Amino acid sequence: MKKLLLVCLLFASAVFAGDAVPKNIILFIGDGMGLSQVTAGKIAKGTLEMERCPVTGFVTTWADGALVTDSAAAATALATGVKTRNGALGVDSNDKPLKNVIEYAKEKGKATGVAVACSLTHATPAGFIVHAPSRKLDAEIAAQIVSSDVDVLFGGGLDYFKSSLPELQKKMPVALTTEEFRKIGTPAKAAAILYPVHPPYAAERAVSLKELTQKAVQILSQDKDGFFLMVEGSQIDWAAHKNDGTNVVSEVVDFDNAVGAGLDFAAKDGQTLVIVTADHETGGFAVLGGSVENKTVNQTGFVADKHTAAMVPLFTYGPGSAVFSGIHDNTDIGKTMLHYIME
Ligand SMILES: [Zn+2]
Repeated sequence: MKKLLLVCLLFASAVFAGDAVPKNIILFIGDGMGLSQVTAGKIAKGTLEMERCPVTGFVTTWADGALVTDSAAAATALATGVKTRNGALGVDSNDKPLKNVIEYAKEKGKATGVAVACSLTHATPAGFIVHAPSRKLDAEIAAQIVSSDVDVLFGGGLDYFKSSLPELQKKMPVALTTEEFRKIGTPAKAAAILYPVHPPYAAERAVSLKELTQKAVQILSQDKDGFFLMVEGSQIDWAAHKNDGTNVVSEVVDFDNAVGAGLDFAAKDGQTLVIVTADHETGGFAVLGGSVENKTVNQTGFVADKHTAAMVPLFTYGPGSAVFSGIHDNTDIGKTMLHYIME
């Protein structure tokens, strides 16, 4: 009840401030991207695209019944505004399905999409599309993705789509190679499943997250009712799990370049809310040495090879962004997006 009141107050203050309701929402999730990961990216790049967001805040990430969340529970919280137990995708702790932001957006006639640097069946994208008691059911998750109404599906995981691929191809063109992806044009719906499971790290990916984001926005923005797009920098988390500071930095840079593409569109369009955050922090990462002048991060440390409960940063831009200033729970982000879509 207290939380609901807080959300109502946030909306009231948004209206009071004359903040408009966005037509489009682009949500960028850096998986495992805590404040130190962002700091490392800033040292490497000089200026981050994220810095173009005038509103900043912090997000608490706990799951239902667990101080430290996994990506499934965190994606569900962001996508539905409801906390669930670790491992659950789009269902509450009692396995009751929760309507997600993509389903609400479709009801309003909006186009929807996900663009990720992992298998499309992995926890973060799946948490925005499917309803499953466990994140480990890849084939079942793939089947649910195919039968969903999502218009843009860019990522990996072809091995899990073996039996459902013909059904997906009936609904939309499906690019299976970089060449096919670059020739896909701007159909109303499109999929690109470019890897058997997950893509390699950013340095070896033929298609950057920025290129996926630009194509997704180009396709989705054709819908006159607006769109919702979720973009995930999936492998910041994996590099942190491996305590691999070098790849943490290059994954944050790849993710931030994609954020830049979203912000470029939002700046021109004027009706797009861009939200940049993370699902949780990974590794208890710290930057211990390097040089701002030389843009190098050459000494890093980790206190764990797992997720942590640290708050994660939040950056927002565009109409409806002002309410995100300050400290929020991950469910508040989901609730606010749903409120904007239902307006
Ligand atoms: Zn992880």
